[in-house]
Amino acid sequence: MNVEILSIGDELLIGQTINTNASWLGQQLSAIGARIIKTVSIADTVDAIVNALDATEKDTNCVIITGGLGPTKDDITKHTLCSYFNTTLEIHQPTLDKIEDYFSKRNRPMLETNRQQAALPLNCTILNNSYGTAAGMWFDEKGKVFISLPGVPYEMKGIMTEEGFPRLKEKFSLKSIYHRTALTQGIGESFLAEIIKDWENSIREKGLGLAYLPSPGLVKLRITSYKGAEDADVIDEYFEQLAKLIPEALFGYENDTLPSVIGNLLKEKNLSIGTVESCTTGLLASQITSISGASDYFQGSLLTYSNELKMKIAQVSSENLENFGAVSEQVAIEMAEGGRKNLGVDICISTTGIAGPTGGTEEKPVGLVWIGIALPNKTIARKFIFGDNRERNLQMTVWSALNWLRYELKTN
Ligand code: ATP
Ligand code: MG
Repeated sequence: MNVEILSIGDELLIGQTINTNASWLGQQLSAIGARIIKTVSIADTVDAIVNALDATEKDTNCVIITGGLGPTKDDITKHTLCSYFNTTLEIHQPTLDKIEDYFSKRNRPMLETNRQQAALPLNCTILNNSYGTAAGMWFDEKGKVFISLPGVPYEMKGIMTEEGFPRLKEKFSLKSIYHRTALTQGIGESFLAEIIKDWENSIREKGLGLAYLPSPGLVKLRITSYKGAEDADVIDEYFEQLAKLIPEALFGYENDTLPSVIGNLLKEKNLSIGTVESCTTGLLASQITSISGASDYFQGSLLTYSNELKMKIAQVSSENLENFGAVSEQVAIEMAEGGRKNLGVDICISTTGIAGPTGGTEEKPVGLVWIGIALPNKTIARKFIFGDNRERNLQMTVWSALNWLRYELKTN
């Protein structure tokens, strides 16, 4: 089922009200297996409403309209829908009774505008509003369902929950949606999209959905089936292909995290780990130990921010510090090896970089980070160049170090 959401209200256009109705409807509808193909916000005018109705897509099955039903705006949506669908208004007795009851219970006088809220189009099904006086309306017209709801969020939610969703589920025999998520690190969203273009096209041709969900340093790729779990095997196959396309970036699925994936690999291989950190000053260790059971493999860390401590406790040589500087391949390697020896661990990760925003030079710009990994059989170091935001640079250093280690553990 394809759905469009049409939000009516000047307050939405000028940014006074955030369109929480559309986001709530989007979430609820996708959870019951509907596909939202368009969301539009428009002004409270007849022209805007008519134009938006004319512009609904051919393959849209249902249009959900919110706003413009209250007594203040002359019920503009109701009148417009009425003439758009060639029908007339008539007092709907159950709704009138409810409105009268509402006012008498509150001991307030009922105005003609309130009475007019019970005048409803003849050709629609009335959706009861348990939370207010503006009824919802369900039209079956022009091969589509049009549902018109008040803009007040709790009234709109109440009508959809009690009346709208159950009817939609029945009419369109909706199956619940099926999601699977792959987790990636180290490739930015747009570059990733370029690399997996053909894979993505093939997913879409199969009628599945793909969403990119980025967060600092990480991108989740979520495949959605609108046919429920019957597509589970197909999606598994797609993830197998993805793992071959981006083996260095793809680190897990669903609720995996880099610390949990690393932890499992270390336990599986019975290896211990420690860190020697300069720019990250313990952030890396803090991530490794963010999950319970980390004491099975994590031994400890050396924080060597100054050159003195790099030499004193991590066995970095003064020659390398002098000749290449603290942020260099040679020092990253010495830190990792020194830490591996002094901490007595199987694996040691080192970080040394210029987190910024100050301290960069032409040769060594802000965002330059060297990460070293000392493994039982070899020591490797790799240069990364991130951006100019200090916090992000440190976060990216931690994710990059963990993901690189994961890849090394997987492939060695
Ligand atoms: P009318 O515009 O005819 O009076 P209505 O049903 O749109 O009727 P409003 O008075 O416009 O009701 O809106 C009632 C409340 O609902 C307001 O606080 C408004 O900001 C809020 N509202 C309307 N549309 C939305 C929306 N799409 N998302 C979140 N809040 C909304
Ligand atoms: Mg309104």
